[in-house]
Amino acid sequence: ALLLEIKRLRKHFAHGDAPAVERVSLDLGEGEMLALLGPSGCGKTTTLRMIGGFETPDEGTISLHGEDITSLPPEARGIGFVFQDYALFPHLSVLDNVKFGLRKLPRAKAVARAQEMLALVGLSGLDARKPHELSGGQQQRVALARTLAVAPPLVLMDEPFSNLDAAMRVETRQEVRKLLKAAGSAAILVTHDQEEAMAVADRIAVMESGRVVQIGTPDEIYRNPVSAFVASFLGRSNILTGTASGMQVQTEFGNLPLSRAANGAVSLSVRPEQIMLEPDPDGTASVVGREFRGHDQLFWVQEGERCMLVISGAGASIEVGSKVRLRICDCVVPLA
Ligand code: ADP
Ligand code: MG
Repeated sequence: ALLLEIKRLRKHFAHGDAPAVERVSLDLGEGEMLALLGPSGCGKTTTLRMIGGFETPDEGTISLHGEDITSLPPEARGIGFVFQDYALFPHLSVLDNVKFGLRKLPRAKAVARAQEMLALVGLSGLDARKPHELSGGQQQRVALARTLAVAPPLVLMDEPFSNLDAAMRVETRQEVRKLLKAAGSAAILVTHDQEEAMAVADRIAVMESGRVVQIGTPDEIYRNPVSAFVASFLGRSNILTGTASGMQVQTEFGNLPLSRAANGAVSLSVRPEQIMLEPDPDGTASVVGREFRGHDQLFWVQEGERCMLVISGAGASIEVGSKVRLRICDCVVPLA
């Protein structure tokens, strides 16, 4: 069922600047996890703060469970938050931090609920510690336990993993996803990290300059980006040109199938893993760079004026300087 509905939100901070958020519309189902993804400054935090009630929109509406909450203060919205810096109370124990949102419950019930949440995030036994006696990953889980203890229907998270080291980040984000799913809470995760968004979100909304430019599952957006911006923000991409006619396009690599219909002159996105590299002494292309990555390798291949990025299996033994032939072995994406 529909949980959150945002219609044409707008926020303009200062005259002279472009609006921080322009006509953003989104909806979110119960229990769904959505990533707001985009480069620094594109309006992600401002969008999240308007949903939370910390910023007043100039225009647009926000409804939760069908009720208009646009002008409610944050504490009246029943939405949970996990901030980048965790915002734990430094002088309170882990247990008291988690219990904080449960003041309305009788003491014994609140303690039992807090202990249950700490068990859920794998921190049983650390009840008495102070936040500074925990690792970054553990503090992050305390912050999450505190938010989830009150079972909010929606949790807003702004770059919640950015203070964790790379290995901890991968582990924690999967745990957080499991915990949210187990609690049945929906979530909006703000991130500038495309890998993180693809790894945990059910759907991704890609933002560029204050606007949502594409919404879809990670798969849909990776396979069928609407623009060169989205194609290159979610992974790497080669941009070609061609002349499209329905589901086909004529390019310098021959006639290729399209992922969606287009007509006339188009730009095209081709993922590096969609290109095959064949050694060929008579080939017109030459390998100008190579990076071995263990499970695969990257090749930079010069073909006339153009340098193409190609990803091949770890087994291919092709040296820098060799002549090759490039073959595109999948459908290509027409860009707006
Ligand atoms: P993101 O989270 O995607 O990095 P923000 O939402 O923080 O982007 O910012 C979007 C734009 O709005 C930026 O240009 C930023 O400088 C501006 N901005 C954000 N908050 C304020 C504010 N309180 N006052 C003025 N400008 C702001
Ligand atoms: Mg931000």
